[in-house]
Amino acid sequence: MNTEDLKSLIPAVDTRSLVDRVEMNLMDFFIKRNLKPGDPIPKEIELSAAMGVSRTVIRESLNRLKTMGLVEAKKHRGTIIKSPDIAEILQKSMIPRILNESTLRDVFEMRLILEVGMADLVVSRASDEDIEALFSIVKDESLQTADTLFDVDYEIRFHGKLYEITGNDTLKSFQSLLLPIFNYAYSTGLINKHFENKHYVSHKELVEILRHRDADKFRNGMRWHLENHFKRIMINPDGSAENVTETEATLNSPEISSLS
Ligand SMILES: [Zn+2]
Repeated sequence: MNTEDLKSLIPAVDTRSLVDRVEMNLMDFFIKRNLKPGDPIPKEIELSAAMGVSRTVIRESLNRLKTMGLVEAKKHRGTIIKSPDIAEILQKSMIPRILNESTLRDVFEMRLILEVGMADLVVSRASDEDIEALFSIVKDESLQTADTLFDVDYEIRFHGKLYEITGNDTLKSFQSLLLPIFNYAYSTGLINKHFENKHYVSHKELVEILRHRDADKFRNGMRWHLENHFKRIMINPDGSAENVTETEATLNSPEISSLS
């Protein structure tokens, strides 16, 4: 009898550790009971008796769930279900030096996609005060060109304000995750090709577009602001381009000069 035939007759032994299995069972239990953030979970001693494992095993499993941000120990209330902070969990593994190149690239690309994609939120949610605040951030912007060296602090202040304007807390915390990666990818030469960017849109010009509250123009402007980065990631290691010309053709250059 071959192994495959035998496999269909004898079920495989669950070789996961006891802690793994308890962790899975607890998760199943939370889901089946439809527990919501703030709901208490049974005591360690009750879980231990119900599952027939030691309190040490229960405690270790609960500690894992705590690390994942799914449960939280509260004074006088015992352990409760918690809505996990997704960004906080990701943050723990976002160490640029430890991430491999393809993950770094993916994360870098994600930042570009988010910033172009959030144009509608920014345009519809920016208050007049927000726009004033942006003007004061960009007022000292030297005549930046596409060649200007990437100034991390200035980038964070400007783009951070845009994330803040969206009013989306998860998106906002993503920024603090993505920017260090962006900076790392840039400074380590992971993406170091230089391109001429004929349609570069500066921060100042972006604020000007935002003042006119035109989401399409803002999206387009942001796309051109980030054009060098898009081009960098779309160039293959052998120097050949990945649809770069097509990208250029499908996007209209924003007519900044028509705004004043
Ligand atoms: Zn920028």
